[in-house]
Amino acid sequence: MSTGKAHGRETLVYIGLGSNLDNPGEQILRGMAAVAELNGCRFLARSGRYVSPPMGPQDQPDYVNAVMAIDCVLWPASLLDQLQAIEIRHGRVRSGVRWGARTLDLDILLYGQETIATADLIIPHPGIAERAFVLVPLAEIAPGLMIPGKGPIADLLERCPKDGLIRID
Ligand code: ADP
Ligand code: MG
Repeated sequence: MSTGKAHGRETLVYIGLGSNLDNPGEQILRGMAAVAELNGCRFLARSGRYVSPPMGPQDQPDYVNAVMAIDCVLWPASLLDQLQAIEIRHGRVRSGVRWGARTLDLDILLYGQETIATADLIIPHPGIAERAFVLVPLAEIAPGLMIPGKGPIADLLERCPKDGLIRID
């Protein structure tokens, strides 16, 4: 059982999931199940899963990505700790290579309408506004979303090239 400290107020949180190793499609489903089981988190919705070519180093397999929505009473830093613990339990080894291959990547995309910028945590997640593999699944479950500092998701989506992104379920 997880031990994150609760702060009592339910916040709508969006989490981005990514994987490109060891059956990525399955890793995404297992990752979602693990997040849904966290103490202080309640599953609300999930997007379909999407396949896309890797960002950054090209000598790695294609990615599967998805987004989930949860109601969460954990502080952001505590939620990040819990997500990183799940990544490790699901076999993630940090190679040090930026955007390198991984079994499971769990990013906090949005935490309510809060803006956070500490050494360990930046919310909204940097890159959220330019990445089709984040914007498309996010808009699927939250078409009316406002992204703090960036604007309505529909506007961001319109400007974002979606080349190479394929929905698989
Ligand atoms: P990336 O997701 O960029 O490929 P990692 O998953 O290895 O890279 O994360 C690197 C660091 O990013 C983490 O140690 C974490 O402290 C930091 N980070 C900053 N903002 C966020 C966020 N919103 N969600 C998850 N990690 C974040
Ligand atoms: Mg990450």
